[in-house]
Amino acid sequence: MSSRTVHMEQMNWMDYAALIETQPVVFLPVGALEQHGPHLPMNCDEIIPREISEEVAKNIGGLVAPSLYYGYKSQPRTGGGNHFPGTTSLSAEAVIKSVRDVVTEFGRHGMRRMVLMDGHSENTMFIIEGIDLALTELRREGIGDMKVLRIGYYEFTSPETEKVVWPDGFPSWPLEHAGVMETSVMLYRHPELVDLSKLPKDTPAEFEPYDVYPVTFENLPGLPRSGALNSANLATVEKGKLMFDEYVAGITAAVIKEFGLQI
Ligand code: ZN
Ligand code: MN
Repeated sequence: MSSRTVHMEQMNWMDYAALIETQPVVFLPVGALEQHGPHLPMNCDEIIPREISEEVAKNIGGLVAPSLYYGYKSQPRTGGGNHFPGTTSLSAEAVIKSVRDVVTEFGRHGMRRMVLMDGHSENTMFIIEGIDLALTELRREGIGDMKVLRIGYYEFTSPETEKVVWPDGFPSWPLEHAGVMETSVMLYRHPELVDLSKLPKDTPAEFEPYDVYPVTFENLPGLPRSGALNSANLATVEKGKLMFDEYVAGITAAVIKEFGLQI
């Protein structure tokens, strides 16, 4: 494997054009700028999927495109809600069209293998719609052989790891917003961005099994004021490494399988 950068934007266009011949897998991290409680920075949903993409790309000779940094509006039951200062979101239409346009552009370049690394659950269906529109558009232009994966990296958590990370029982991915997984992975990868002295002490979020709008603290009495939906007291560097390494290994294997790579 060459020692070239995995960062597409750091290459010159001619080296990039030459690389297209080898059909590298292109990773597009899709994030959000969203509050993650008082102890975590607002870039968790971009930095984690991007760094997983970078490690997988190194393993397989792939490329990482610049992230789509902003995401769809934070929802109370999955991200605290869009009413927190700092949480900065796009409309659904903007997310769909950004994904559609960027995937279509890579297809136009000649790339045929893409992975959309999804770090923010509110984006999921809009990413899927964007992929669908891009593939339709490319087919119209006579390009019918592009293959795209959408990966929610956290879905690569094994049952064994789940037992180690949440010995008292796994809450649920929505309630894990700013919880043990994100806090542990950030402690492992970016301890300088985590302040454990600010871990919120409030009780876990309690929601009705329905949504209420407008989103206000008055309408959502069970929403923790801290913005963290669950306690991250059990977060550790070791758990962060366990999960991060498991995600990189699992996604590397999945990408090799789906694209039939000879590594
Ligand atoms: Zn998050
Ligand atoms: Mn999020």
